[in-house]
Amino acid sequence: MNLEEIKGIGPKTIKVLEKLDITFLEDLLEYYPYKYNVLARTNLSETIDNPGLITGTIESLPKVAYIRKNFNSMSFRVITENKIIKVMIFNRGFMKKNIIIGKNISLIGKYNNKSNTFIASDIKFEVIDIPKIEPVYHLIKGITNKQMNKIILNILESRIDLRDYIPYDYINKYNFIDKISAVNEIHNPSDKKMFNEAKKRLIYEELFKFMFKMNYLKYKRTKMDYGLDRKVDYAKVEEFISNLPFELTKDQEKAAKDIYNDLTTKKRMNRLLLGDVGSGKTVVSEIALYINYLGGYQGVLMAPTEVLANQHFNTISKDLKNMKVALLVGSQKAAEKKKILSDLSDGKIDVLIGTHAILSDNVIFNNLGLVITDEQHRFGVNQRKIIQNKGVMTDILYMSATPIPRTYALALYGDMDLSIIKTKPSGRKEIKTVVKKESEIKDVLECIWSELKLGHQIYVVAPLIEDEETSNINDIKKIKENLDKAFGKKVNIGILHGKMKKDAKNKVMNEYKNKKIQILISTTVIEVGVDVKNATIMVIYNSERFGLATLHQLRGRVGRNDFESYCYLICNQDIERLKVMEESNDGFYISERDFKLRGQGDLLGIKQSGDMIFKIADLKRNYQVLLQAKEDSEKYLNNFDNNVLYRDIMTSLDINN
Ligand code: ADP
Ligand code: MG
Repeated sequence: MNLEEIKGIGPKTIKVLEKLDITFLEDLLEYYPYKYNVLARTNLSETIDNPGLITGTIESLPKVAYIRKNFNSMSFRVITENKIIKVMIFNRGFMKKNIIIGKNISLIGKYNNKSNTFIASDIKFEVIDIPKIEPVYHLIKGITNKQMNKIILNILESRIDLRDYIPYDYINKYNFIDKISAVNEIHNPSDKKMFNEAKKRLIYEELFKFMFKMNYLKYKRTKMDYGLDRKVDYAKVEEFISNLPFELTKDQEKAAKDIYNDLTTKKRMNRLLLGDVGSGKTVVSEIALYINYLGGYQGVLMAPTEVLANQHFNTISKDLKNMKVALLVGSQKAAEKKKILSDLSDGKIDVLIGTHAILSDNVIFNNLGLVITDEQHRFGVNQRKIIQNKGVMTDILYMSATPIPRTYALALYGDMDLSIIKTKPSGRKEIKTVVKKESEIKDVLECIWSELKLGHQIYVVAPLIEDEETSNINDIKKIKENLDKAFGKKVNIGILHGKMKKDAKNKVMNEYKNKKIQILISTTVIEVGVDVKNATIMVIYNSERFGLATLHQLRGRVGRNDFESYCYLICNQDIERLKVMEESNDGFYISERDFKLRGQGDLLGIKQSGDMIFKIADLKRNYQVLLQAKEDSEKYLNNFDNNVLYRDIMTSLDINN
């Protein structure tokens, strides 16, 4: 059945629903309410202090006053509890025609007994006698809450056949209620017990389906999806490693070995390299690129920002001396780009490093064998697919500096293999972290001064205020003025913010790297990856505005040497969350705390990537269910012979991946 065939859905509504990403019946049924209002009648006198719901009969025609554009008030009289009161409601002028004398209605709002006026926030054109639960949907202009609910209930009444994604054995095992009843209950709750049963079942189903897909992708990759199998002598890799200026940590070594195994066997690599900021992922990516090169293929590394791409290019082209490494970013001149593109397709370039510019259609490789993405969560699924498809059977390595506990990672990235770098390069000290009020800024300035005297450098982060970039620039300027006042002209202070042109940004970054600038004030553009070993202090203004994961990443800009390093979190309130930063330098611990405090929303920037937005499940609250679903779906996949339930899903996964 199509949406058009549903009672209450015309062409106009179809358009509105499209905007909400609803194109199929199932989308609509899975458009779950985000909350529920409990509607229960109260006495008029009870609504003086707290809002409540009263019922009454309309006694007069309405008067509408149009106060200004998009603002009107409508008033009329109502008889309730044997007396006449005045009702006032804002911005419901469009309902004027429905206010008919003698009609019984319910009103939600507060009563002012002095003026005998009920200020209503909502009108229901029905008498609510027995308590009623009203689902509330996230909506946009063009459709009302009531309409939405009505449409959905219409569908449910028409006895449609809804696919149940929970295998029969598990429905039995967990005693789940049937799918239609569950969906019905969510959109039209009858009682608490049933409602909870419905939620339980739908959450499990969503997570089971998700984990099944993950497991299936992994299964398919290991069992059926062949990759390039390169002939590479590990001795050569070892030689490369022994020529590095430092010894690899155990975890780096293990990661390199994992990658070597993936790249030199038929198995197609799909690996996530997870490691805290500063844990040394870049060198692992170099080793991967080197193995791939020895195997006879081109490699590509994609970074989310130009600053980062530049930096990777500088390090990697230095380390991979025998290879031809090139950079491709948006700001390059056309002629320069053209040369790189033709060299690339001729196979004269061994490794290409760049930003999103690499995704462009005219970027054609001669024989791409390995794709590496840095900060993988910043790229969407489609972007990753585009780059992968520039080669045949390419191996893939994702890098992420957002450490998440291993168990979460296993669940979230269930379709990938994992290499985790937990140990930091030796010699690293803990970064001393202190929360300070702005009134205590003198302490911070003193510390900055003594570090400057040692020839070290400082980062200062001013937060980016949403939609008000000008005032943010003012914030930065003010901070600069204060620092200028404190340290005089001997200290050079640079500014870096999102509105600057790329050339200007690179210039400032380079001056900072070359120590021409001692203090760098910036917005969070420096968040990812930037590596200036000489920096020892990170000052973060309005630190309460950042999530712990971001704070940890920012702090990771310092402490990249064996100098003592400091992080000052400036915040004028007492915020429990920030204490976690004082307590720990362990990204995995911090992310676990952050996850517990704030939930999945901030973890990994999942929302940003849109890879994984659950409709009813919540990874934090339903984590145990997720683990159960993981286990169950693995078992199910292993005994999966002629089961038809997931055939469609598998087919669509085969096409899309
Ligand atoms: P990230 O994991 O954040 O990308 P980087 O790869 O930028 O970290 O590494 C941070 C710094 O540590 C770099 O300057 C790098 O040269 C250095 N480094 C990496 N591995 C080691 C090691 N095993 N011993 C000492 N220093 C290392
Ligand atoms: Mg890195």
